[in-house]
Amino acid sequence: MSDLELDALLAPARPTVDREKISEHLTEVLRLLHVDLEDENVRDTPRRWAESLVTMTSGYDFTDVKTLTTLFRKTCSQADEKCNNLVVIGGTYKTLCAHHILPFFGRFIVGYIPEKTIIGASKIPRVVDVHMRRLQSQEHLAHDIADTIEKILEPRGIAVWMGGIHLCMVMRGVEQESSFMETNVLRGEFLEDERTRQEFMSIVNRRGQRD
Ligand SMILES: [Zn+2]
Repeated sequence: MSDLELDALLAPARPTVDREKISEHLTEVLRLLHVDLEDENVRDTPRRWAESLVTMTSGYDFTDVKTLTTLFRKTCSQADEKCNNLVVIGGTYKTLCAHHILPFFGRFIVGYIPEKTIIGASKIPRVVDVHMRRLQSQEHLAHDIADTIEKILEPRGIAVWMGGIHLCMVMRGVEQESSFMETNVLRGEFLEDERTRQEFMSIVNRRGQRD
């Protein structure tokens, strides 16, 4: 399946979203905040705001983990070295916090020990992509990613590390500009085997906090 076909599958249209109605309500929100709606900078804001909210929540369009399963899996044998080693894939994410609808963003590192199946390196970020386009907390996002990869691969262990800066902490509340939060989800061999856990955490320490 080509990337284009995959895109179509991961982001289908969401016909039930009424952009017009959302835009009307957002106009009312701005009115209640006493924003000048005639200001040329603001005139088209409710429509743009509605549009960006729909885009940033498009992960709700895609809920079929089974489809991901059939698309992404590759079988490998235990004799194959690839099938026994820790696989680590990292990248960046950005999402909206469920409590304040403000962005949080940062880096993720996913590690897993295959059982019988592996996944193409580019597919893990696609799984992250589906989950980050929903309203999230960092904790939930890490668990959602771990759950999906677990369903796809049934690995011997899965680990998800996430580090993020939360604008709801930077711009309001405590206004902590250094509010970098870390989340760790460790399952299977990452919990049971000290060495596997150490191996993953040393990769996190090398790659996670820096870039
Ligand atoms: Zn928040």
